Amino acid sequence: MIGRFDKQTRVVILTGAGISAESGIQTFRASDGLWENHRIEDVATPFAWQRNPELVWGFYQDRRRQLLDVEPNAAHEALVELEQYLDEFLLITQNVDNLHSRAGSEKLIHMHGELEKLRCEECGVVVTAMDEEYLGETFVGCHQCHNERLRPHIVWFHEMPLRMREIDVAVGDCDVFIAVGTSGHVYPAAGLLGLAQACGAHCIGINLDPPQNVDLFDEFHRGKAGEILPEMVRKWTGRP
Ligand code: NAD
Ligand code: ZN
Repeated sequence: MIGRFDKQTRVVILTGAGISAESGIQTFRASDGLWENHRIEDVATPFAWQRNPELVWGFYQDRRRQLLDVEPNAAHEALVELEQYLDEFLLITQNVDNLHSRAGSEKLIHMHGELEKLRCEECGVVVTAMDEEYLGETFVGCHQCHNERLRPHIVWFHEMPLRMREIDVAVGDCDVFIAVGTSGHVYPAAGLLGLAQACGAHCIGINLDPPQNVDLFDEFHRGKAGEILPEMVRKWTGRP
């Protein structure tokens, strides 16, 4: 098991839905592959948006409004402390909630998009839209062109994650790779552990249940992120 990190240790973190579970946001594998009682195919694919935009819009408006009722937890906060201690750090999240940035994380990539934002499929503009006027059931139009329906700025299944080149470079170059609260089922995110391992990084996993790629970790810690991560960060940074 690894002890204290030097400040020069290059650390990359990958987080998934499990890190936000203790804040009250449901993961999706937890409920038999359903996400808040919906099948992924019905709400989180480009085909679903074409077939039934009202259903998809309503689903994401619920997720967006939920952000007003939840708070970052001890695990999000521990990662801010780790970022502040290290010279080189990157936090890659699969989560679309805003809890990492609200906790204070800055070196952060949202590879699957962000609930806070909407995007125009016609002109490409991306807007942060969390004021009350944008959180109702009616579609929001584009201010820049004539499109009447902005879409959630979310990477759906069958779409390409954002900033993959930067992510691959950072993972390929890191000394320590830490995955927290991710089931290892969603690719390409799930493949980052294999890349880190192949590039010689020390790989640490923290998860409630062993993820499907658990054998690739050098250390695996089973339990709740909000309980385990603050303790590990204390050890890694040498803070008493
Ligand atoms: P997942 O739902 O497939 O798996 C979550 C994992 O977290 C599980 O292995 C579970 O055992 C673990 N877990 C549950 N509670 C935990 C806790 N308290 N501490 C540590 N681990 C815990 O999540 P995924 O691998 O991130 O894939 C889900 C996809 O769905 C992502 O791409 C994401 O975009 C989307 N999603 C996002 C959110 C969010 O933004 N909060 C929520 C649900 C789904
Ligand atoms: Zn537009």
